[in-house]
Amino acid sequence: MIGKRTIRTSLQILSAADLYQRLPDNHNNIIMYHAIGNDGYDAITPKLFKRQIYWLKKHYEITPLNRITEPGKKKKIALTFDDGLTSFLTNALPILRETNSPATVFVIGGVVCGRHADKSNRLMTKQQLLEISRDPLIEIGSHTMTHSRLTESQNYHKLKTEVIDSLMAIEDAIGITVDSFCYPFNCFNKEAREMVSAHYKLAVCGGGHQAFINNDSDPWSLPRINGATNLMALKLRVSDFYKHYNLVT
Ligand SMILES: [Zn+2]
Repeated sequence: MIGKRTIRTSLQILSAADLYQRLPDNHNNIIMYHAIGNDGYDAITPKLFKRQIYWLKKHYEITPLNRITEPGKKKKIALTFDDGLTSFLTNALPILRETNSPATVFVIGGVVCGRHADKSNRLMTKQQLLEISRDPLIEIGSHTMTHSRLTESQNYHKLKTEVIDSLMAIEDAIGITVDSFCYPFNCFNKEAREMVSAHYKLAVCGGGHQAFINNDSDPWSLPRINGATNLMALKLRVSDFYKHYNLVT
C-alpha cells in the first residue's frame, strides 16, 4: 500500500513540472506575510518573495482582498501583510508594483495615531503609511490598537478599543476608509467576531497550512495560509490537488 509520505514525495517530484496545475484548481486563497527581509517574524527573503509573486501571478488572479469570496473562472489569491513592517515598503511594495499586484497591509492603530510608541523601530511611520495609502494597489486595514489577543479576558471596553477605536484612529490619522480587520495571533471569540462584523466588511485569521475560500466562507473569519515558506511548499499549499488528497504537512 502506498503511504502518504510516498505520495507526497512523488508529488514533489511531479510538481517540478507543475503537472498538478492541469487538474481542477479553483478554490481561492489568502496568503499571510510578515517580514520580507530580516525585520521581523516569519521572515522570507525579497528574492523568494519575488519568485512566489511571479509564480502566483502566472497561474492565478491576484485580487484585492474584498473580492476573495467571489467565485470566478480563475482561482483568486489575495495578499496580506501583518503588522505594517518597514520591509513591506522597502522590499515588498516594489515587487507588487512591478507585477501590478494588489495587497492589504494590517497596521496597529495605536502606533499609527501616535498613542503608542513603536518600541521595535521596525514599523512604518504614519508618513510612510500616508504615502502607500495613495497607491491604488494598497489597502490598509486594522490589526487592533495594541496588537493584543481578542479572547475571553477582554472586557467590552477593551474590546471596543481594539476593534472600533483602532478603526477610527487609522481612518483619522491617514484619511482613509478602513474596511478590513486582522485578528492578532489568530485569537478571537464570539464577542470579538460579532463586534468586528458590525464595523468591518471582512476579517482574516492567522495562517495555517491549508485554507480554501469560496462564497460560503464566513467573511469575518477568513482563513489564510502562511507565505513564509519555500516556493514548493507554497505551490502545494495553494493547490486544490493538495486539498483533495488531504496531504497535510
Ligand atoms: Zn500581528
